[in-house]
Amino acid sequence: METIWILEDQLSPAHPALTGGPRPDAVILLIESRKRFAHLPYHQQRLVLILSALRHFAVELRVAGWKVDHHELEAAPDFLTALQRHVAAYQPTRLVVMEPNDWPMTEALGPIFERLAVPTELVPTNLFLCGREEFRLWAKGGKRLLMENHYRRMRVKTGWLVGPDGAPEGGAWNLDAENRRTFTDFARGKPPRPADPVREEPDALTRDIIALVEREFPNHPGRAAGFWLPVDRAGARRWLARFVAERLVHFGPFEDTMATGEPVLFHSVLSPVLNLGLISPAECVEAALAAYRSGAAPLNSVEGFVRQIIGWREFVNGIYWLRMPGYVTENGLGASRPLPAWLQTGETDLRCVRECVQQVLGTSFNHHIQRLMVLGNFFMLADIAPGEVLAWFNAMYCDAHDWVMAANVIGMILHADGGLMATKPYVAGSGYIERMSDYCEGCRYDPAVKTGPTACPFNYLYWSFYDRHGPRFAKNPRVAMMVRSWAKRSEADKAAVRASTQEFLARAVPLG
Ligand code: SF4
Repeated sequence: METIWILEDQLSPAHPALTGGPRPDAVILLIESRKRFAHLPYHQQRLVLILSALRHFAVELRVAGWKVDHHELEAAPDFLTALQRHVAAYQPTRLVVMEPNDWPMTEALGPIFERLAVPTELVPTNLFLCGREEFRLWAKGGKRLLMENHYRRMRVKTGWLVGPDGAPEGGAWNLDAENRRTFTDFARGKPPRPADPVREEPDALTRDIIALVEREFPNHPGRAAGFWLPVDRAGARRWLARFVAERLVHFGPFEDTMATGEPVLFHSVLSPVLNLGLISPAECVEAALAAYRSGAAPLNSVEGFVRQIIGWREFVNGIYWLRMPGYVTENGLGASRPLPAWLQTGETDLRCVRECVQQVLGTSFNHHIQRLMVLGNFFMLADIAPGEVLAWFNAMYCDAHDWVMAANVIGMILHADGGLMATKPYVAGSGYIERMSDYCEGCRYDPAVKTGPTACPFNYLYWSFYDRHGPRFAKNPRVAMMVRSWAKRSEADKAAVRASTQEFLARAVPLG
């Protein structure tokens, strides 16, 4: 008997060990390790997503004719215990596993396999379009690891949005100049949003999982009952089709817009199902390209979406495998403050932060600009320790996995990797948030005021950042001007910025 152990983020019908269909001499092993699910205080909806997806996958495999040995959460304290029970029951002569997507699981496999004393085989992952070795070779040859260069190489390799002459369709590789419309553009243009909520109604199995999570993880953040995501392949395909039909058209121009009470706007929210293997990156790209070719979606929206999939997603995975295991502990800016206590409730008087935190508490989701330019921006400006921020992102987001969040948080959001991933620190004062959202309306702080009790904290925190880190960025062409600008400020101005910063940070309460 051969055992095919499928991990909870490898729920792909194209899993290499499933090729050829059910075999009488093979059994699929699925394990819901309680230890893994309780490793962090995961958002309840993230737990529902993964558990429900696993159980739907088990049903589909059985219907297809596979023998399945499924160790459910209530009886699976950890992977080793479940594996030992499986080996005792099935006496497999071989154990096949696809390469895990993250480092901790990869590290854990060696000792587990030793204890089992069953011949094992690791098969290469097929969940990404750029292999780990391929990325490593590319990174070795390049002067700087720029996402844009990786993205162009991926465009050429796949042929997506590339003409027969090798030139990018539309004349440019990146059409962001046509995107990034402001909130005012959004409010004036009134692009139509879907009439129905972007939501998959939970079926009976998912409703059982919601009850299970409420029972087993009652103190985890969020509310399982608000669960809204697809959990199986059919749902993932519907989700993709709905995005392409309803939202892709406006995705590009408004991909950076933030609007109160609208968590999805024109985003695809495909990452939760993509990162579990329920749908493939190629399927997502092909669907968007088909919409472009039929005239249903403009090139700037489609190119922006393709860039997220074959550019950013593959790039963060490549960086992760290039730099692990040390990457998650990098702290290039020496940030050391604890997370603020109000992350548990969202009850802060910074309205932009409150909107984003309350949204993630309600939905386990923020889109990329809320993560980068509101929450991440705040965490970096407030000098919060990268390890704490990484753990919070990993716990709270429905699409979070170690490989996704490491490069996003350590590299992109916090610049903690010394600039390996991002060419500049993504910090901003109130101007960016005011331009891209409606959050400043009705905020207790004034975005136009720079210091003092009514000033927007992003303003003085922003200049304090350059006060602390100016020398480090003095030669960075993208932000050197800000360093020089801070240096030219009067001593009275600098003292006011420092005093406001100290007063604000003294009020921040650790999460504890
Ligand atoms: Fe955020 Fe400042 Fe605007 Fe308030 S004024 S919403 S704190 S950017």
